[in-house]
Amino acid sequence: MSAEKKTTIKKIQATGQMKKIMADYFFELDRASRDQSQKIAWCTSVGPAELLLSLGFLVYYPENHGAMLGATRMAAGCIPAANAIGYSPDICSYLTSDVGAYLNKQTPLSMAYKGIEGLPHPDVLVFNTNQCRDVQDWMAWYARELDVPIMGISTFRNIGHISDDILSGIVAQIKDLIPPLEKISGNKFDIDKFREVLSRSKKCSELWKKVLATNASAPAPLSFFDATIHMGPAVVLRGSDTAVKYYELLLKELEERIVTGVGAVDGEKYRLYWEGMPIWGKLRELSELFIGLNSAVIASSYCNSWIFEAFDPADPFLSMARAYTEIFIVRDEDFKEKYISDIVNNFKLDGILFHDSKTCPNNSNCRYGMPGRLEKQLNIPTLTINGDLNDLRCYSEEQAKTQIEAFVEQLEAG
Ligand code: SF4
Repeated sequence: MSAEKKTTIKKIQATGQMKKIMADYFFELDRASRDQSQKIAWCTSVGPAELLLSLGFLVYYPENHGAMLGATRMAAGCIPAANAIGYSPDICSYLTSDVGAYLNKQTPLSMAYKGIEGLPHPDVLVFNTNQCRDVQDWMAWYARELDVPIMGISTFRNIGHISDDILSGIVAQIKDLIPPLEKISGNKFDIDKFREVLSRSKKCSELWKKVLATNASAPAPLSFFDATIHMGPAVVLRGSDTAVKYYELLLKELEERIVTGVGAVDGEKYRLYWEGMPIWGKLRELSELFIGLNSAVIASSYCNSWIFEAFDPADPFLSMARAYTEIFIVRDEDFKEKYISDIVNNFKLDGILFHDSKTCPNNSNCRYGMPGRLEKQLNIPTLTINGDLNDLRCYSEEQAKTQIEAFVEQLEAG
């Protein structure tokens, strides 16, 4: 089978607006960092951002910077610098890319946004280990390097049923953050502001969920590769009206695509699930490869990770604890299997691609037999691709291409 045919990625009109609001976000952080007009918190991507926003912090997300280092392929030149100071090539390559970039005095922000010379200086570093321990070690490096306070939430891992005991422990940890954060921000905690931010985050989440749900249609209007880019505002601008307005715009465009029968992949024949981290430096190549194979990669647990359904402004602490504890990455194998099965059935998918991301065991779900179990349960094939989120030394493009083409042939053979 040849993938050497026209493989144009369709433009999403809302992209221009997304670029603008992301630029505004980074310029605002840069300005606040320079003139110290507003305190800045660095926060892990599924950390307690709403609490920080309600206390008046601007919030910066190092993982977003890690993804930019991957997407721009700057990571390759940065990872060795972190390795050289003792951070293993086997640990999270967001961490090693980001720390290495700091050591090299490099940032993709300078390339993308004229006038920005470096990262916004943090006043506090806040983590939640719900996704992995690496985020805590990552923040701890900056805490030592920049002499900035660090604090966070330690979440149980491999959770099946989310018990009241688990939630009350998380609630207590969230509340414990308030006094030191009040001191750093200089603002008193205001429960009404907290409720307002949570309410905007909830709206953002609901819209992002609707955006992803448009892919239940055939043809599906949004590829996984596009979704990884368009989830940017859900990650860094949740809690704001800007994010809400953006997803209203994107949703409208995707709904128009459904009405007019426009899919992300022309002649969509196969519909696939991407399980695990994106390979940031190869998004375009992979997108084009699948377009050439008339195959649409249209569902993922990764993009779904910024849907926080539990947020409830009427019960802000408990609902926030639940929202950040029920995300896919924290859960046990049984939960994950059921979650993936439901999506495969609802989206009428033909196969599952597992990305075994070398430096992210936390979000590589193919290592304990899950692909085989899902094949049996769902009677569909799976494929495991070896690679990495940022460290392209772990990824063989030729090998992946051959595997993917063979996988699609297998689908064709029925
Ligand atoms: S979940 Fe994976 S990619 Fe994300 S910070 Fe943790 S180790 Fe890195």
